[in-house]
Amino acid sequence: MENGNLIEEFYKLVQVDDPDGRYAKEIKGENYFNMPLEAIVKAERRLREEKEKCIAYFSMEYGLATSCYNKFTGSFPLGPANKMPENAVFSNFRVADYFFALHQDNILDLPIYSGGLGVLAGDTVKTMADYKLPVAALGILWNSGYFRQKFWFKYGQAPEKMRWDPYAYPGLIPLKNRIKVSLKPEEVELRLWKYYVYSRLHDAVIPLVLLDSNIESNSERGRLLTDQLYRSDNVFLKLLQRVMLGFGGVKALDNLGYKISTYHLNEGHAIFAFVARARGLDKEGLEDLKKKFVYTCHTPVEAGHDRFSFDDLNKVLNPEDTVTIENFGKERPGLANLTLLSMNISSAINAVAHNHQKVMHIQFPAYKERIQYVTNGVHPPTWMSESFGGIFEKFPEVFKDFRSNPMILADAVKLKDNADFRAGLWQAHQENKTALCKMLEKWKLDRDIFTVCWARRIAAYKRPSLILHDIGRLARIADEVGPLQVIMAGKAHPNDNLGFTYINEMLDKVDRMTQNYDKLKIIVLENYDISLGKKLTSSVDVWLNNPLPPFEASGTSGMKAILNGVLQMSTVDGWVAEATDKKIGAFFGYQNKEGQVGNESDLHMNSDAEELYGTLQKMVGLYYQTNQAGNLNASSAWIDMMIECLIAAAYFNTYRMVDQYKEKIWKIT
Ligand SMILES: *Cc1c(COP(=O)(O)O)cnc(C)c1O
Repeated sequence: MENGNLIEEFYKLVQVDDPDGRYAKEIKGENYFNMPLEAIVKAERRLREEKEKCIAYFSMEYGLATSCYNKFTGSFPLGPANKMPENAVFSNFRVADYFFALHQDNILDLPIYSGGLGVLAGDTVKTMADYKLPVAALGILWNSGYFRQKFWFKYGQAPEKMRWDPYAYPGLIPLKNRIKVSLKPEEVELRLWKYYVYSRLHDAVIPLVLLDSNIESNSERGRLLTDQLYRSDNVFLKLLQRVMLGFGGVKALDNLGYKISTYHLNEGHAIFAFVARARGLDKEGLEDLKKKFVYTCHTPVEAGHDRFSFDDLNKVLNPEDTVTIENFGKERPGLANLTLLSMNISSAINAVAHNHQKVMHIQFPAYKERIQYVTNGVHPPTWMSESFGGIFEKFPEVFKDFRSNPMILADAVKLKDNADFRAGLWQAHQENKTALCKMLEKWKLDRDIFTVCWARRIAAYKRPSLILHDIGRLARIADEVGPLQVIMAGKAHPNDNLGFTYINEMLDKVDRMTQNYDKLKIIVLENYDISLGKKLTSSVDVWLNNPLPPFEASGTSGMKAILNGVLQMSTVDGWVAEATDKKIGAFFGYQNKEGQVGNESDLHMNSDAEELYGTLQKMVGLYYQTNQAGNLNASSAWIDMMIECLIAAAYFNTYRMVDQYKEKIWKIT
C-alpha cells in the first residue's frame, strides 16, 4: 500500500472522534501509536468483505496485559490516572508495612477485566491476531474499571472506585460512531471505541470494539451501565450490563459494516447478542441463526449461572425479546437461565477443561452429547519471562522457533541431561526471583529461601486461607525443614460477603503471628492484578493452587507458572487433572467421586490443610537439597520437574487451544 493512501484509507474506515487533534498526532504516516498502520487497514477491510468466515468474539471483560505486552507508545503524557497505583502490603513484618508501599512505575493495564475470564479472553484474542484470523472482538469500556482493592488495616478489603482516563490511554481511540439500544423505559445511546490488539510480529490486528454509555445524551442511570464491571447491587444493573454487551455488540457490528458468520459467546453474559439477532425471524430463520452461534461455559459454580425472572426481564425488554428468551431459556415457569439459553441456541458448546466437561455432563445430562471441551491455555509471548526466553534462545537447535511455535518446548526433554541447560534454567529462575526480591526489598525477601505463592480471585471454592489454616504447623515446617516465604494476593468481588470474610481472616491471622520473621514470612499484597500476576507467576519457587474439586473449571495462573519453570503444588482439579501424569510438582487433597459433583460449600478444610502441610514439607525439603545456601545441586529432582513444567507448557498454551477451537468449535481450517 502506498503511504498517502494508507492513512487516507484508515480515516475512511475508522471514524476517529478527534476534535482537538490529539489522536492525529499519534496516527499519521504509516503509524498508529508507533505500530504499523497497515495491519489495521488490512483487518478493517477484511471484516467488511464477505470473502472469509469472520468471527465476532463477545466477552464482558478483556485482560490484555497492556502494561507488559505490545505496549503502545506515543507522545501522550501518561497522567497519574493511567499509571499503576501504589499498593500497600500487609505482612508479619509490620514496620515495613507501615513505612513502605509498592511502587510500580508503569502504565496501568487497560482496566476492563476482573480476573481469569478476562485474561483468557485477552490471551485468546492475542493468539487470534498471531494466527491472522478475521475476527472482531466486542466488549465494554468500563469507565471505572472493576474496582481497586484497599486493605483496611487488618480488617479486610475496602473496595474503592478506580479512576482512569480513557481519553489519554495510548492505543485507545474514541469513534464518532454512536448506536442506540432501545429498552423500556428509555433508550440508551452508546459511543464506540476501538483498541487494536496486535500480533506478536505487529503484522496483524484484531479490532476490539468497546461500548460506552457514559455520554451526555444518556440519563444518569444510563451512564452508569458501563461504569463498573460486574456491578450487581441491583438486578437491573446486572441484567442491563449483559444487555449492553449483546444488543450493543450486534448493533456495533452492523454500524461498522462488519460481516460476521460466527458469533462466539465467551460465557453466557453475551447471550443477548442472539436475542437481538433473532428479531423478526421465522422458525427456519432461527434454525439458520443457531448455526452461527457457539458458546463457551467457564464455570461449574452455581453463582456463575445467571438467572433472571421474567417479571424483571419484562420490565426492561420488549415483548418479542422476552418471547425469544421464553422459547429457548426457560428453566421453570417465571425463571430464565442464561446458561440453558446459551446451550439451546448454540451449534457448538464447550467446557474449558476435560474435568469441567465431565462436571457439565453431570449438571446438564440433556446436553451431554453436545458438550465438548477445549482446555484453556495462556499466551506464551505474554507470560514467558525474558530470562526464560533467553535460555531457550541459547539452545536454538532444540527450541528453534519457540516464540511462534511454543509446542516445541516439549523438546526440552532432549536436554534433560544437559548440564548447561539445567544450570541455565536455575539461573533464569534465580534472575526472576531476584527481581521479585527487589520489588519487595523493604520486606527483606531472600532469593535463597523457599517461596510459595497463592494469588487468585478470592472465592470460597478456591480456599484462599488453606495454607494459613494452622500457622503453628507452618512455623514448625519453617523451623524443622527450612525457612519459608509465603506470598498471597487476591480480590473478592465487592458483593461477595463470604469473600470479604476470607480476606479479613487472612489479614487477622497474619496480624496475630508471633513467629520469627526470618524463618517464616507471610506477605499479603494489595490489589492483585495482571502486572502482579505476571511478576508472581514467573518468580516464586512453587505455585499453590488449592481449589475444591471439581469446582475450578480450568484455572490458568498455574499455566503461566509452568511456562517459567515454577513448580506446582495443587489439588487435582481443572487443567491440573490433565497434567497429573507429568511430574510438574506435587498433587494433594480431596477428590470428588467419579460421576458426582458434591457440595461446593463443604470445603474439607481440616483434612486438606493436613495434606497440604505434608506435601509442603516434602517440597521444602527437596528445595533445600537443591539450593544449598545459594549453591545449586544441578542433579536435583527439582530441576527435572522444572523441565517437566516446560514440556507441559507445550500443551497448556493458547496456540494449542486456538487450534482446537478452529477445528472443533469454529470449524475453520
Ligand atoms: C491469570 C490470572 C487469573 C486467573 O488465575 P486462576 O488460576 O484461573 O485463578 C486471575 N487474575 C489475574 C490478574 C491473572 O493474571
